[in-house]
Amino acid sequence: MRELTQEEQLAIQTVRAFVKNELAPMAKKIDEDDVFPVETVRKLGELGLMGMFVPNEWEGAGLSHYLYALAVEEISSASAAVGTIVSAHSSLAVWPILRFGTDAQKKRLLPPMAKGEAIGCFCLTEPEAGSDAANLKTSYSKHASDGYTLSGAKAFITNASRAKTAIVFATKDRSLRHRGISAFLLDMETPGVLVGKPEKKLGIHGADSCPVDFDEVFLPKECLLGNEGDGFRIAMATLDGGRIGIAAQAVGIARGAFERAAAYARTRAQFGRPIVEFQAIGWMLADMLTKIEASRMLVLRAAELKDSGGRSTLYSSMAKLFAAETAMETATKAVQVLGGYGYIKDYELERFFRDAKITEIYEGSSEIQRLVLANELKKENFAL
Ligand SMILES: Cc1cc2nc3c(=O)[nH]c(=O)nc-3n(C[C@H](O)[C@H](O)[C@H](O)COP(=O)(O)OP(=O)(O)OC[C@H]3O[C@@H](n4cnc5c(N)ncnc54)[C@H](O)[C@@H]3O)c2cc1C
Repeated sequence: MRELTQEEQLAIQTVRAFVKNELAPMAKKIDEDDVFPVETVRKLGELGLMGMFVPNEWEGAGLSHYLYALAVEEISSASAAVGTIVSAHSSLAVWPILRFGTDAQKKRLLPPMAKGEAIGCFCLTEPEAGSDAANLKTSYSKHASDGYTLSGAKAFITNASRAKTAIVFATKDRSLRHRGISAFLLDMETPGVLVGKPEKKLGIHGADSCPVDFDEVFLPKECLLGNEGDGFRIAMATLDGGRIGIAAQAVGIARGAFERAAAYARTRAQFGRPIVEFQAIGWMLADMLTKIEASRMLVLRAAELKDSGGRSTLYSSMAKLFAAETAMETATKAVQVLGGYGYIKDYELERFFRDAKITEIYEGSSEIQRLVLANELKKENFAL
């Protein structure tokens, strides 16, 4: 872990103040209402938190991925749902434009996205193509007027209910698998785009995940992101970064659960002693703390690699895998520390427990992270 620059220290202080004074008091309501928190996201935009690693040139905050990871942790320690909204927007929609977009595409799309005025979403998953994303069915064909026509159906798309800009992956020929896939920049207000009702989910209430259908949607040729056939590579590179965001979210969830459990264990007395003095409880908390710190180190290592322009695949997957499993384990044990009160909604741990689970599933399940890691270490030139 490295020292923060003065600018980064200031930025993280701003995030902490926002989380403490505005987000934490709202988190329970966001969960209970299960409605996209428009006002909260508007404030995040005003504070520069929807465009953290976007350079100043495109009206972003011009910060590092390192700081972004710390900020997502901080946000998720209060509200995992808001962590999801920020991470899907930033890592999955803003970043691919920044990395693969032309100057014209960046100029048109990045400033409103960096300010949170235009929310982004990432449309890869389909009803029959989840972990096996190369099997997607959404198709595109060349349109007579030099653009493209897009048709198909996507599933579980985070932010879709409020998004202005989508990154959509489609194939020109399914038999080509990953080589047939291209990425497109789509304005969600284009005729033929149909966003379905947000799914009712176990957790991260308020972070909408919706089905999205495309019924012969016309895309001008300027909407192609990268070159034709680059789509799968763009999706995988994007997920390398996205997994850092989700790993940071998992650290935040774990930390939020741990802090509440530790505070409770210090004050709750049974058999005439605070329960933290029972070895069973103290050791549970000690294990949580150790794994949270180890998770954070992996996340920040992955973020440093991303900042240096290096390939972060290995560390992104290790961070996502370890932090997600730590979040689930920590939230489960934190509920246990609170006993019956852990099961009661007013004590919040129940929310952390429900929210933690998604980190083991989206942007590549834990099984897929192990698969990525196993594939990496098969390579002849593998080195840590
Ligand atoms: C709340 C939420 C938000 C989401 N947001 C987005 C989004 O914004 N954009 C988007 O594109 N997608 C999004 N997703 C989709 C998400 O990324 C997928 O759900 C995830 O990748 C798993 O795909 P699947 O659900 O089809 O499960 P499947 O791929 O059907 O997997 C089912 C089970 O089989 C296991 N499995 C699959 N293949 C293998 C294998 N080769 N080896 C071992 N085990 C395997 C999986 O790990 C899992 O346990 C979201 C999902 C949810 C629930």
